[in-house]
Amino acid sequence: RDRHYIFMIRGRLPGGKMTADQYSALDDIADEYADGTLRVTTRQSFQLHGVIKKELKDTLQAINDSLITTLGACGDIVRNVMATPAPDIDGRQAQVQTFADELSDILLPATKAYHEVWLNGDKVYSGKEEVTDSEPLYGHSYLPRKFKIGITLPKDNSIDAHTQDIGLVALFDDQKEIEGFNVIVGGGMGMNHRKENTFPRLGDNLGYVPKEKIVEVVKGIISIQRDHGDRKNRKQARMKYLIHKWGLEKFEKELVDRIGFELEPFRELPDFDLDLYLGWNQQSDGNWFLGVSIENGRIKDEGDLQLKTALRKVADEFQTGVRLTPNHNVLLTNVAEEDKEAITDLLHDHGVLLDDEISNLIKYSMACPALPTCGLAITESERALPDVIRDLDEVVNDLGLEDEKLSVRMTGCPNGCSRPYVADIGFVGRSLDKYSIFIGGDPSGTRLNTKYKDLVEREDLVDEVRPLLEHYAENRSNGESFSDFWNRVGLSEAEQITV
Ligand code: SF4
Repeated sequence: RDRHYIFMIRGRLPGGKMTADQYSALDDIADEYADGTLRVTTRQSFQLHGVIKKELKDTLQAINDSLITTLGACGDIVRNVMATPAPDIDGRQAQVQTFADELSDILLPATKAYHEVWLNGDKVYSGKEEVTDSEPLYGHSYLPRKFKIGITLPKDNSIDAHTQDIGLVALFDDQKEIEGFNVIVGGGMGMNHRKENTFPRLGDNLGYVPKEKIVEVVKGIISIQRDHGDRKNRKQARMKYLIHKWGLEKFEKELVDRIGFELEPFRELPDFDLDLYLGWNQQSDGNWFLGVSIENGRIKDEGDLQLKTALRKVADEFQTGVRLTPNHNVLLTNVAEEDKEAITDLLHDHGVLLDDEISNLIKYSMACPALPTCGLAITESERALPDVIRDLDEVVNDLGLEDEKLSVRMTGCPNGCSRPYVADIGFVGRSLDKYSIFIGGDPSGTRLNTKYKDLVEREDLVDEVRPLLEHYAENRSNGESFSDFWNRVGLSEAEQITV
């Protein structure tokens, strides 16, 4: 008997870039084949939920017809390559995007199987890739686990560079041309609640590589993971565990042996920050882009908030570019000065609030999809976080903390897809409707948080966090962030105030 399986489909969009026509096509596909919504992911891609088995092939072909592929969006290979989502602001961002496109194509699997199974052997997407039978990079068995790469530029850590298997930071010469990359290796978020040898890890600073050698270095790193990553135990298979076990020195020596040259010392960087790029911002060509906050990444129409209709109208009427951001928001790009007001009005008319009209807590919050669409989910996330955030918003407002950039991230299991272990406050699904609470990360993605409470009922999450916010509001130093405060005084002090 053919059972009624339901599928999730995820796309490959390096740096989250789409044209207006591609966005409109996806919007149609969501209506025709999925549940009528589009989900922006925290890796700058989209997911379609509720696709039924007998329409899977038609859906994939429709996506490929829009010149978007799903090849490389799942599986034990390099996943969607992330990049700073901003369109060109000062001559540097577009170069990062272009490099992300190139690297993504270079690292695609060469197999023909995708085309043969889903596209009747036809090769109909972007077309830069050579499709062959051999897999020079991935070999016969592909990688031990998924592999994540993100590329950014100094200060902008919207991609959470330290949570990637490879984080690249582009450095520029005096002419604002990319001259090379700082390379960060061995980040990763996933853990398992009951296995102490699993843990989130921030990537290490490996070194600096000139631009002409960076592809060789990236391929060399991937080949080490291919050959030495743990293939017996999937819970130990990410590259972060290999680097943890070997140490950075041994890993670098292995890399140098493979590529035949030394890396230069890691170059000093200014502090990272998290820029969501919301509201109106000007591009280097004089046009504008508008960052639209998408709560929990779900593009849908519900009640007075007709978000899906509004974004579709903007794409159709104004032919804007569309960028999906690592914080599951949308940037509408290439807007002429004279269209700004009409787009703002159109969004407002459909109940869409913009930048300053939204609380900081909502803007900086993220949730993974979890139930009912993710098979690994233990608890709710996307459907639970809005209520939690609104209750927390009341506390934050009462305490006069509404101007703080407080990041709250929730997941439905410890895999950590919304990167909860670098958030100020992370709620991680633990068991039926119960969560672990993590405190003290850093919105700029450079510090892991610490487990503060375990097995907290969803309805008690805000009550557990409230004393920490009160104590912070009363005792913080000038300008000190919530997480800096708790890292300074220590969470042991939190135990005392909450007894
Ligand atoms: Fe990822 Fe777990 Fe959330 Fe599923 S439930 S989306 S695996 S964090």
